[in-house]
Amino acid sequence: MASHPHPLRNAECIFCKIVAGEIPCHKVYEDDKTLAFMDIFPLSPGHTLVIPKDHHPDLFALPDDLGSPLMTTSRRVALAIAKAFGPDGVNLFQANGAAAGQTVFHFHLHILPRRKGDGVISTDHGQRPGDHAALAKEAEAVRAVLAEM
Ligand code: 5GP
Ligand code: ZN
Repeated sequence: MASHPHPLRNAECIFCKIVAGEIPCHKVYEDDKTLAFMDIFPLSPGHTLVIPKDHHPDLFALPDDLGSPLMTTSRRVALAIAKAFGPDGVNLFQANGAAAGQTVFHFHLHILPRRKGDGVISTDHGQRPGDHAALAKEAEAVRAVLAEM
């Protein structure tokens, strides 16, 4: 499937095998850097995954220059899904680490069509306001790390 060789490949990785055409997928779209295909355990009809062709385990390992191609592909595919299936909404989500629900350690964005009240994933957190002193401390902690990066 790869239109040119992708040197960053992990021999154990299921998504690298899909990129290489060694295991099949229901392909939606590909370009030189990205690939979109149907999730084989869909959370809703039309559930699609967008990946870089090169192996990068998660967001932390993702090179900056792949951010834009991945988001461009995700937006195009989300628009196509919206047109094809007419969902009430679409979530993009992305897991990093087992505690966050990551099961395949090759970066991927989920594009998830939603229906009103489908309960597929909950984004209703009850809107409990945060404590501003805690929020200020958290912002300061992140700014301090960013300043060193
Ligand atoms: P994660 O849980 O890491 O955020 O998402 C991994 C996703 O990959 C899951 O939704 C799972 O259904 C999907 N998946 C796992 N193995 C395969 C596979 O071999 N082919 C396809 N198309 N999807 C897969
Ligand atoms: Zn991989």
